[in-house]
Amino acid sequence: MKIIMLGAPGAGKGTQAKRISEKYGIPHISTGDIFRANIKEGTALGKEAKSYMDEGKLVPDELTVRILLDRVSKDDCKGGYLLDGFPRTIPQAEVLDKELEKAGDRVDFAIDVEVPDESIVKRMSGRRACLKCGATYHVESLPPKTEGICDKCGEKLSIREDDKEETVKKRLEVYHKETEPLINYYEKKGILETVDGMQDAEEVFSSIIAILDKQG
Ligand code: ADP
Ligand code: ADP
Ligand code: ZN
Repeated sequence: MKIIMLGAPGAGKGTQAKRISEKYGIPHISTGDIFRANIKEGTALGKEAKSYMDEGKLVPDELTVRILLDRVSKDDCKGGYLLDGFPRTIPQAEVLDKELEKAGDRVDFAIDVEVPDESIVKRMSGRRACLKCGATYHVESLPPKTEGICDKCGEKLSIREDDKEETVKKRLEVYHKETEPLINYYEKKGILETVDGMQDAEEVFSSIIAILDKQG
């Protein structure tokens, strides 16, 4: 099963992706997590990606696509995978489709998690992230068991550099311009599914399971 998570920054893609990945036993691949891991390790890729991410801009397609195709070529992706934060532009989606086609394969589901812009800024201001395992929390709606510490791996939680209000606004602008057109792209392919991201995380998860189990 190959799944794509769509939705604005902060819609809850990562939160759901973690749960889906555990339930269905497929790897959760987040291009944002890959970039952040590289920034943490101080690699050349990390340095390049950071300059775009800090400004709320997208990392160029060419670089992003290269990283993603390399990741999905790994053995653990043979039985399927879940993409979170990729594709973010039409050209990225086209490259992915072409690669899959070569292998007689395709994306099975594109799940759009819908949250209005007004709620996004609030979610982002309370987001706390684990830069080690990629888990995210929210100080009010999804707090960790111990304040400031990741439940899953014990790492200290961080506020992401790009979650400042001005940067979030820029990212939303970029989302509407570059990423939202993907909704129509996947709708035309007949694989778009929409879920209400304003529900509790548990309810959003149930809605997604209902979709995947119905047709999967
Ligand atoms: P969020 O979870 O808030 O949507 P991500 O962790 O997915 O954020 O992405 C953080 C940043 O990493 C983006 O703002 C962008 O700069 C960069 N990035 C991640 N994925 C992509 C992608 N597919 N194409 C271009 N840039 C990306
Ligand atoms: P994305 O990967 O789409 O950027 P995240 O999964 O990181 O989004 O979620 C953004 C923030 O909103 C995090 O602080 C997360 O804990 C919180 N969050 C996620 N899902 C919900 C939900 N259904 N209701 C309230 N807060 C949520
Ligand atoms: Zn962690």
